[in-house]
Formats: sequence, structure tokens, C-alpha cells
Amino acid sequence: MADETSTEILIFNSSSDLEASAKFEAWRRANKTLGHYLNLNPTQGWFLHRARCPSVPDDGNSAGNEKRCGGRRKDLERHAVEQGITYKRCQQCNPL
Ligand SMILES: [Zn+2]
Repeated sequence: MADETSTEILIFNSSSDLEASAKFEAWRRANKTLGHYLNLNPTQGWFLHRARCPSVPDDGNSAGNEKRCGGRRKDLERHAVEQGITYKRCQQCNPL
């Protein structure tokens, strides 16, 4: 564990940042192999996705629902515990 550093969790939300969707798309491209993110579905709560999940809307407002992004899944899991976030796993990208 000593040689492992945690990566920063990035939060993208169009309601507070007009560039959030562009930043989220850039993050997805940069983290498509190992990245995971949490998406806040307004009716069903938080879902965990892989960065390359195909469910992201292609409407230029992909961060319309808040996204919390981690370079590695375990960093995101730690963040969820710290923030009291419970989530389901996306059935499309099926993060293990
Ligand atoms: Zn997904």
C-alpha cells in the first residue's frame, strides 16, 4: 500500500461550470482504460461506470448530471465511502 498514491477525484457539473461537459469528455479520453466515474441519475441515484461506457448522452451536455471521476476505481470507492455515497453498477459497461 505504501507505494500507492491515490488520484484526485474530479467533479464535473454543467450547472456550476459551462465547460464541464467538454472537460468530462477530455477526462474520458485520457482515462479510457482504467478510469471510472459516478453519475448522479436524477431519479435513480448514483451509478458507477467505466470511463468508456457507451451510455453517455451525445448531446454536448454529458455533464448535465453530475459526474465524479477517478483515475482508478478504488479511488472512487474511497471517495464514495468518505462522502456517504451509495451506488449501483451500470448494466451497460458492467464495472467489476
Ligand atoms: Zn456504464
